[in-house]
Amino acid sequence: MKRERRAKILATLGPASSERDVIERLWRAGADCFRINMSHTSHEALRRLVGLIREVEKTVGRPIGILADLQGPKLRIGRFAEGPVTLGDGATFVLDSDDKPGDVGRVYLPHPEILRSLAPGHRLLLDDGKVRLVVTKAGPKRAVTKVEIGGKLSDRKGVSCPDTTLPVSALTPKDRSDLDAALDAGADWIALSFVQRPDDLAEVRKIARGRALVMAKIEKPQAIERLDEIIELADALMVARGDLGVEMPLEAVPGLQKRISRAARKAGRPVVVATQMLESMISAPVPTRAEVSDVATAVFEGADAVMLSAESAAGAFPVEAVATMNRIAEAVERESVYRGILQAQRPEPEATGNDAICAAARQIAETLNVAAIVCYTAKGTTAMRAARERPASALIGLSPVPQTARRLSLVWGVHAVVGDDARDPEDMVEKANRVVVAEGFAKPGQRILIMAGVPFGTPGATNLLRLAFVSADGSSGG
Ligand code: PGA
Ligand code: MN
Repeated sequence: MKRERRAKILATLGPASSERDVIERLWRAGADCFRINMSHTSHEALRRLVGLIREVEKTVGRPIGILADLQGPKLRIGRFAEGPVTLGDGATFVLDSDDKPGDVGRVYLPHPEILRSLAPGHRLLLDDGKVRLVVTKAGPKRAVTKVEIGGKLSDRKGVSCPDTTLPVSALTPKDRSDLDAALDAGADWIALSFVQRPDDLAEVRKIARGRALVMAKIEKPQAIERLDEIIELADALMVARGDLGVEMPLEAVPGLQKRISRAARKAGRPVVVATQMLESMISAPVPTRAEVSDVATAVFEGADAVMLSAESAAGAFPVEAVATMNRIAEAVERESVYRGILQAQRPEPEATGNDAICAAARQIAETLNVAAIVCYTAKGTTAMRAARERPASALIGLSPVPQTARRLSLVWGVHAVVGDDARDPEDMVEKANRVVVAEGFAKPGQRILIMAGVPFGTPGATNLLRLAFVSADGSSGG
C-alpha cells in the first residue's frame, strides 16, 4: 500500500486513540508515524501502545514509526491556599522559595535554579502567556515582579521565562526515566522538549547510543538563537508552535516556521510542523478554512511531516482529523505550483560523495522521468540525503533493518520497505525491480534508478547509480 502524497502525517495517541482498532484506522486514514506524549503516558501505557502499533504494523504490512516525546523542563508554580487568585494590572507579585500555599501577593516557585537566574526586566509568562509579570527585583530566594497583564491564576500553572537562559538540562529526572522506558520499549524517535542549547541534545544522544534518533523541539527563543548548532546535533526538528507561541510573539511564529523548515531542509534533517493544525477538529468533524490553509502552507513549504496533537489524542474525531490532513496534503501536492516552490528552495549538495550521487540521481530521474528511485539504505542516511533533493519521482528506501524503515516514516517522500541487501549487481536490480512492482510504483517497461553502495552488504557511503528497465517478468532488468 502506498500513499498518494510525499509529506508525512504524525498523529499523537491518547485517550481517544488507545485501542488497537482506532490505531489501525488512523494508519489507514493516513498516519505514518505515531507520537506518544510522555507528559501524559505511564510506562505501562507506553509499552502497551508500542505493542499495539507493532500489531497494526504486522496487519497492514508496512513499517510504522513511533516517536516518544519527552516532557522536558516544564516549569510550574505551586498551589494557592484559597483557590484561584486574580492579579490586577500593575500589582506587585512575588515568586519565592517558600513552599507555603500562595495568595494574591505571592506564590511558591518550586524551581530554585530559576529564581537564581532571573534578573530585573525578565518577563515571566504564566498559564500559556495569559498572565505576564516583569521582574523588578531578583534574589536567590525571591523575585519581586510587577503584573504587566493581570488575570486569574490557579494551582500548578505553567511558567515560561523567554528572557532567561535556564541553567537546567532539557532532560529532567522524569525525562531520564521516560527515555529509558521509551528506548526499552523500542521507540524509533525521541523528541526532546524545551531544548535551549546543543549540549541538551548531546546528553540524550549519549544515552540513546543510536537506539533511537533524536528530534529537537524548537520552542524557546534560546534555541532559535543557536539553531544552526542545534540542527547539527539533531536528527530532526519540530517546529513546536504551541510553546514557541508563548515564548515569542504569536506573529513571529509563521516566519520562524519558514526559517526553521528551510534550515532543516538545507541540513537534510526532517522537520515536523506541530500544534493546533486542525485544532477545531477536536470537537467538530470539519476544520476551519484557516486551519486547512495552515496545513497547506506547511506542505507547500516542503515540511517532512505535519502533526496532530489533541485532534487525534483526545478529540471527538481522530480518524477524520487524519483523513482531513491526508486530503489537504494530497491536494497541495497535485497543485501545479507545488513543484516549483520545492525546486526554488533546493539547497546545493554538500561536497560529499553521498550528496553528489543524490543530486545526480534526482537530475537523472527528472530527465528520464523514471518511475521510481530505489535507494538501498542501511541506516537511512542515504534515503534522507536523497529526500533533501525533493525528487519528483517516487523514492523508495530499501533497508534490511526494520528500525531504519520505521525511522524513515517521518521523512519526506520516502516509501520505506524492509528487504534484504543486494548480493551482487544483478541481484540489486532484481530486488529493486520486484519491490517497485510489488509496491505499485512501476510497471514492466518503465525505467527505475537504483542507488546503492558497493561492496554490497557493508554499510557505507552510496557510490553506485544504476538505470534499469522494469522487465516483464519483474526480475532481470536491463
Ligand atoms: P507539546 O509540544 O505539545 O509537548 O507542548 C508541542 C508544542 O509546544 O507545540
Ligand atoms: Mn511544547
